[in-house]
Parts: sequence; C-alpha cells; structure tokens
Amino acid sequence: MTDLLQRLKNAVRSRSIHVAYVDTGSCNGCDIEVLACLSPRYDLEQYGIYVHNNPREADVLLVIGCCTPQWEDKLKGLWEKIPEPKVAIAIGNCPISGCVFNREGGYVNPPASKHIPIAASVPGCPPRPTEIIRAILSLAPTIFADYEEKKQ
Ligand code: SF4
Repeated sequence: MTDLLQRLKNAVRSRSIHVAYVDTGSCNGCDIEVLACLSPRYDLEQYGIYVHNNPREADVLLVIGCCTPQWEDKLKGLWEKIPEPKVAIAIGNCPISGCVFNREGGYVNPPASKHIPIAASVPGCPPRPTEIIRAILSLAPTIFADYEEKKQ
C-alpha cells in the first residue's frame, strides 16, 4: 500500500513543480517580476509550475534579496523544511552579489550560496519573467531525477 501511495505521489508530483519564494531583503523589484510570472501574459501555471508559500510542499525555493543578517537563520530554516528532492534558485543580482546594497557600511551578507545550496542563478536587476521561468524549467530534470529512476 505504501508503495502504491508513493508511486501515486511520484506520478502526480512529476507533472508539476511547486515553488515557494523568500525575500531576504530586496527593493521589491524582483518580487514584482516573480508576480508577473503569474500574470496572464506569462501564465506560469501553463508549464505546470505553481507558486505558494508552504515550504513543506515545495520543490523549488526562489531566493530574492541581498541576504540581510536577520534572514540568515530563517533562510536556512525554510530550506530545511523543504522535502528532498529540492533546489534553490537565486533570483536577481541581490542574492548573487548584494547588488546596490553591497557597499561599505551596508548591512548585507551575500551571496545566498553562503547560506544554502544554490542550484542556479538568474542575474539581472531585475531579471525578466521569461528568464525566471526558464531557470525553473531547466531544473525540472534535477528535481524529478529521483522519480524518473523509480519509473524504470
Ligand atoms: S536585484 Fe535589483 S531589482 Fe532585484 S531586488 Fe536587488 S536591487 Fe531590486
């Protein structure tokens, strides 16, 4: 029965990608581009990608913002709640380099890869919705490799 349930779960999950996102200190520019992915113009859900904020149901974590010290533990905690297999994607220049916030006296601690494993980065200030969607889709084989193996 457990095996049947697992196979059912694998079949369902391998047809959809669930995305959660976290803003670790941004100007909101990248948040708006992620929101634009949900608009009818880009229609993220047509690719089987669903955005919500329950990390326990997510496959992908989008990391936005320049990693302020207040977010370090929270980011790690969020990442730990996401079940395997999982990937994190750095969205925009902020989680890659700190962008405009990374200057002398700035209160930031980038890159995000210092705090959690980052599988891909989408540079830009901000990146376009198409680039964000492309990055998520490019990691689908990594997320579902485990499921594909079980199918054979
Ligand atoms: S990368 Fe640019 S647009 Fe995105 S949060 Fe940072 S400063 Fe704002």
